[in-house]
Amino acid sequence: MKPRNIIVLGAGISGLATASLLAKAGHKVKVIEGASWIGGKSKRIVVDGQRMDTGPALVTFPGVWEEFIRRYDNLGSGPKASEIAPIVFEPLSEVGEYFYKGEKCLLPVEPGNKWHEPWARFEAVHGKLDKEITTLLTNTSMSPKAVPAVSKLVSNYGIRLTTKSYLDGLKWLPEGLKEVISIHTLNAGVAPESTLALFATMPAVMATQKVLVPVGGVNEIPLTLEKLARHAGVEISLNEKVTAISKNKVTTAKGEYQADLVISSLDAKVTDRLLGKTTNESGRKMSCSGVAIYAVLDQDLPSGTKTHSVIMPDDPAALHKSLGAKQLPKESMVFVNYYKAGHIYPNSKSTVAVLITAPADGKHYGIDSDFAKAELERVSLVMGLPKNIKEYFGSFEVLDPEYFSGWGATGGALYGEARKIWQSGPLHTPRHSSVLRPWLWRVGASTHPGGGIPAVLGGSLIATEKLIRRLAR
Ligand SMILES: Cc1cc2nc3c(=O)[nH]c(=O)nc-3n(C[C@H](O)[C@H](O)[C@H](O)COP(=O)(O)OP(=O)(O)OC[C@H]3O[C@@H](n4cnc5c(N)ncnc54)[C@H](O)[C@@H]3O)c2cc1C
Repeated sequence: MKPRNIIVLGAGISGLATASLLAKAGHKVKVIEGASWIGGKSKRIVVDGQRMDTGPALVTFPGVWEEFIRRYDNLGSGPKASEIAPIVFEPLSEVGEYFYKGEKCLLPVEPGNKWHEPWARFEAVHGKLDKEITTLLTNTSMSPKAVPAVSKLVSNYGIRLTTKSYLDGLKWLPEGLKEVISIHTLNAGVAPESTLALFATMPAVMATQKVLVPVGGVNEIPLTLEKLARHAGVEISLNEKVTAISKNKVTTAKGEYQADLVISSLDAKVTDRLLGKTTNESGRKMSCSGVAIYAVLDQDLPSGTKTHSVIMPDDPAALHKSLGAKQLPKESMVFVNYYKAGHIYPNSKSTVAVLITAPADGKHYGIDSDFAKAELERVSLVMGLPKNIKEYFGSFEVLDPEYFSGWGATGGALYGEARKIWQSGPLHTPRHSSVLRPWLWRVGASTHPGGGIPAVLGGSLIATEKLIRRLAR
């Protein structure tokens, strides 16, 4: 194989994973990143001396990470990934505590809860599908490995294509529990009627497998990827924004680079703009954005508060409608991630992240904006806190749709444009590469929306496998 000169745009999880595999396969790889940090949406901040990793908080489908490590180790020579950059994942005792319309439950639903029996029935069928889903997340749908996985999933879901239609068909499932299950489609930034039935399975797999957090925080993932990439010979340039790409050439604020291949991990529309394409996104439906408050606590939250709480709106359908119309919802879906001092992070004080789902409107929202204020009050009430959660906060930082649009995605949409239902699986668009521009490949959250880290990491595995095979021919 002739080594190629490859430039990867973006040092988020997908860009770094792609770069390290290609370098391990023997290619000369350079990563160009516009920001000053490694990790993209996974950004580490320090507030009042305490570490908080912003962006992704939980790791699901750990088999995707294991498959990444297996492929890294098997490509080329050199020490194993675990010797270069060890990483330890800690399982949480539950996926989270869910609050919905006066009801609350853990996932998996605890014995004694009125939803325990139906949940156990649901999890017994769906919790076992992790291997099939991991196979599909890490292999092309044309791969012989994917065939048994696809047939098992198709036999499970039948003709009920969407999460909503699938769950509606399970008449024995209580309505409230259905809502708890289907709210997880917001992890993909979209509504249950716009996601494949497969998404209904995600919470069951998460409950069976447990959700994980790397010891030290989720930012350990991009930092580990950085070490693996550099060890494989990847050169990484930070603070260098790419301004244009064309055949075999990448232009940045600092200069021009020749490349045999360019791999973009940027938002799909940002890549289009770098190609000189003009796109009108004003009428397009986008995935959601968020208002995220990261606070160091002056006082711990009441004992019994779980690491991960999910405060649902009373009317999830109305929330999805508002997000689709890029309007503020009356009530949103809020994650509360609470780390006591010393748990996961090497912190001397407890911290909390309050992540409020928001429309991709690109706007600035402070902690005292009407939207954030109302949601913080609602969260405090629903969680049964003795006072407003804000009163526990010491120093804090707020990230909002304006911040998330800093990456160029319209309105700060976390997964770019919302896709049509048939495009959320292997028929995703944009594709990894096109016949028109065989020199340009794409990976990342807007090419593989829906599922966060497993989707982007798995997408990088699929793309690099295809690319390495093609380059070897
Ligand atoms: C608040 C929040 C919570 C989340 N929670 C979870 C979770 O709990 N679990 C989970 O699995 N996932 C979660 N996700 C999703 C997860 O963070 C993303 O799927 C993943 O980090 C995307 O990685 P990426 O490499 O595809 O994209 P990015 O991280 O967006 O990387 C793209 C990179 O490209 C760079 N870039 C952009 N434009 C240019 C340019 N012109 N020149 C050079 N560089 C450029 C950016 O600076 C960035 O570093 C969450 C995301 C957010 C925002």
